[in-house]
Amino acid sequence: MIVITFLGTVSGIPTLDRNHPAIVLEHYTNTRDVLLFDCGEGTQKQLMKAGISFMQISKIFITHWHADHFAGLIPMIQTMNLEKRKKPLIIYGPEAEKFVSNILDLGYFGVRFPIEARNVDFEGNAIKKIDETDDYEVYATPAYHTVPAVAYCFKEKDKWNIDEEKLDKLGLKRGAWLRKLKKDGKYQLKDKVITIEEVGYVKRGLKIVYTGDTKPHKNIANIAKEADMLIHDGTFLEEDVGGKYHSDVKKAAEIAKAAGVKRLVLTHISRRYTDTAELEEQAKKIFPDTIVAKDMMKLTLK
Ligand SMILES: [Zn+2]
Repeated sequence: MIVITFLGTVSGIPTLDRNHPAIVLEHYTNTRDVLLFDCGEGTQKQLMKAGISFMQISKIFITHWHADHFAGLIPMIQTMNLEKRKKPLIIYGPEAEKFVSNILDLGYFGVRFPIEARNVDFEGNAIKKIDETDDYEVYATPAYHTVPAVAYCFKEKDKWNIDEEKLDKLGLKRGAWLRKLKKDGKYQLKDKVITIEEVGYVKRGLKIVYTGDTKPHKNIANIAKEADMLIHDGTFLEEDVGGKYHSDVKKAAEIAKAAGVKRLVLTHISRRYTDTAELEEQAKKIFPDTIVAKDMMKLTLK
């Protein structure tokens, strides 16, 4: 299960209702992993409001180094230090090594926990795997913005699940052995070897893509192919001169349609739209399963 919480959904300048960009992704398997995508000003307080401890964040993925997408890192690292964090923190981003090092040079942090910066490629059209655990993979591809920028894809690994009907047909009992079978692919049950193919089915892992700031681009359509959720830059209603390195909601909807995603969430909304009904309506004409994100909105995917 994945729970996504939108901590900040505005573009450029914050409003009373919308904070600078940050999205937290909680991934639940036997354990829980907490990943943060972008970390705008005020992310700490937004996490508190959402009831999520920033101490549990294992990795932070910065889409690009504009202050509205990373300024929250500075106070958050300081708080983690004051709270005596020991757990390592990995920060990904285009040119992350340079910028994380700059940030840590800004003041007298005296950081006492490991922070590792990992650079992400921001040129070309490739989709590259940047992170992997037993349960999921994270991919990145270059986005199209005024500065080096990337989009990220969180992909749960496909997993074997037990098909109850198949079990019954073979007259097999449920039990702890099934966990071993899922892990090893086969299990010696008395005098017979049972394989996972005999009693299981493959559950496709969930796929979520977050674009960060971007103009509509084929790289996004590629990385978002058949995603369960595409979280796309939806800064403007109409294409706009100031927005040539952002997306308008119609173009974002066209990308969602081209990629064949299940659901589109528009975020990074310009402060000029105090009412977003029109944004949603226009996007829905092209891609019906669209919503506009709000701060503190939670979406659960199973
Ligand atoms: Zn932005």
